[in-house]
Amino acid sequence: MTRIELERVLTLNRVWQPLTTLVLRGALVLVSRGRARIVCPQTYQMFTWEQWLAERAVPADAHVIEADYIRTAAMQVRIPQVITLAKFAGYPNAGVPFSRRGVYERDNGRCQYCNAVVHKRDMTLDHVVPVSRGGATTWGNCVLACARCNHRKADRTPREAEMNLQATPQQPTRETLLLRGVTSQPAWAPFIGKATEQVEAK
Ligand SMILES: [Zn+2]
Repeated sequence: MTRIELERVLTLNRVWQPLTTLVLRGALVLVSRGRARIVCPQTYQMFTWEQWLAERAVPADAHVIEADYIRTAAMQVRIPQVITLAKFAGYPNAGVPFSRRGVYERDNGRCQYCNAVVHKRDMTLDHVVPVSRGGATTWGNCVLACARCNHRKADRTPREAEMNLQATPQQPTRETLLLRGVTSQPAWAPFIGKATEQVEAK
């Protein structure tokens, strides 16, 4: 895969709320079609594709920091880090779908009973109220647990097992899960302060 399929661009809605991250190729398509504009994370200035090329492209033989530019035959263009959609102002915060991976991210990769760091491949999903007692597979009833704690708790409630939860499980916001599986860029921080802090606290 090339960088255009690997690099990620933070994508904001029209009123600058973080929606998602797109691969660079997808972001460039939106910008070149006029459906999004590039935001400079330092100055907050917005650019159309033409304006970006006029200001942030240099000749093919100019000396640049490779990581910051994509190369075409004729020139080198600064990689955008943040874009804002031209029309969409919605913020679909309701109902982040439940997922095992989402529980892992929400619980910061730590067992919610003993607080041990758990590797993704070793994670188990613990139903706080066991399935056998009618416990549902929902954000509010599932936590990340290490195999040892899950085994020890078995078919009991935390109270019966005398095991305390680190925190009350809740449905995460879209912002919390925005960066799951994605390496956060420092330039994104002003736009997603809360989510970035949580990632850095890991
Ligand atoms: Zn544990």
